[in-house]
Amino acid sequence: MSRWSRRRVLAGAAGLGFATMACGRPRTAAGPRAPSAPVVTAPSDASEPDAFAALRGRCDGIAAPDALEWSSHRDAVCDRMAAAGIDAVAVEPGAALVYLAGLSWGRSERPLLLILRADRSAFVLCPAFEQRSVAERCAELPLVPWREHDDPFAVALRHAPWLARAQLAIEPSMRAFVVAGMRRACPQAQLRDDDVIGPVRLHKQPAELARLRRANEATQAAIAAVAERVHVGVQESQVAAWMHAALVAAGLTDPWALALVGPNASFPHGSGATRSVAAGDVVLVDTGASLHGYRSDITRTWVVGEPSDALTRAYAAASAAQRAALATIRPGVTAASVDAAARAVMLEAGYGGDDRYFTHRLGHGIGLEVHEPPYLVGGNQQVLAVGMTMSDEPGIYVPGSFGVRTEDIVLVTADGVDVFGELAPPQLDVRPTA
Ligand code: ZN
Ligand code: ZN
Repeated sequence: MSRWSRRRVLAGAAGLGFATMACGRPRTAAGPRAPSAPVVTAPSDASEPDAFAALRGRCDGIAAPDALEWSSHRDAVCDRMAAAGIDAVAVEPGAALVYLAGLSWGRSERPLLLILRADRSAFVLCPAFEQRSVAERCAELPLVPWREHDDPFAVALRHAPWLARAQLAIEPSMRAFVVAGMRRACPQAQLRDDDVIGPVRLHKQPAELARLRRANEATQAAIAAVAERVHVGVQESQVAAWMHAALVAAGLTDPWALALVGPNASFPHGSGATRSVAAGDVVLVDTGASLHGYRSDITRTWVVGEPSDALTRAYAAASAAQRAALATIRPGVTAASVDAAARAVMLEAGYGGDDRYFTHRLGHGIGLEVHEPPYLVGGNQQVLAVGMTMSDEPGIYVPGSFGVRTEDIVLVTADGVDVFGELAPPQLDVRPTA
């Protein structure tokens, strides 16, 4: 992937795609790095510092996670381990570490590991020369430093001799060389691939839901503010720059935006081409950011000037598919059945042909990562339950002509579903050319 081109930073995150990496910070809650999609981030528009002042305060009053919350997450994982006969879990930097300890740290060749034991004790194995930096970010847990010339895994074993024969769960995103190091140091231990953290993260707690709801509401407001400014002649990169500025003005961090115009919108994650808006062009904006680590991911599609009949029809079909999926989501249904409900509406509207037009899965879970389970995709028999959050984002892509997508974030409730903010409009939004 080319990292810099045409003032675009390909930030490795996307709506349909992948968890956003914050740029330019030495250490971030990285999580597993997913394949990158062409997501545009751009600097905010310095020439108009107050362009989005009306969005200020949108995220006020929402509490950040604290030590009590992280400890309650650890307790839930420990209960799960105890029930499964697992002694401990090893966790590398990423969303799981943020979830359990509030510790944002980048992955490098120097291992940093949280070892969480089922008896609720825990320690963080970290490079000795980084110990003070880790302590700044994670005050509650004891640190076990390894020096540059040490074998870090042998240091872990010296500190915790019980690891030698432990039933040790390996967090699924752990890198192979870290697993190999643990195996080498503890040949008698049983390394298990049971995912003991993911199932806990699936069920969002009220404080997490408050962050997700507000982040997505604020993102909708930011898109609406940007849409007011998009007229004939505006470039995709300008739309992305406005999105960036609007999200930050709304109080969000780590913004990203995919802004696609006309035929470029037929590539679900954009194309290498750039375009400025012409009359009759569709504008597709897929964007998000973070509120205290919790993510937003919203897509809106509109037209500048008079739309073609084909575009109007496609938008209505995508919106109907989005609503059909919403009507299906409730506790007890499978993720696959929700995807199927949206696909059935597409078929009915003439956009069937397997996945010819609706080329991607219907949606993905969202939380500390833009993309996490549950995935709304054919074949996924995961049963939805109260507290799960996910995107509902059907799209229709006609190569060479246009693409449309409507994306909102929803919560599974006892009696169905709750949309964060306002659902995308049922008919194509037609906006003025000037
Ligand atoms: Zn999206
Ligand atoms: Zn998405």
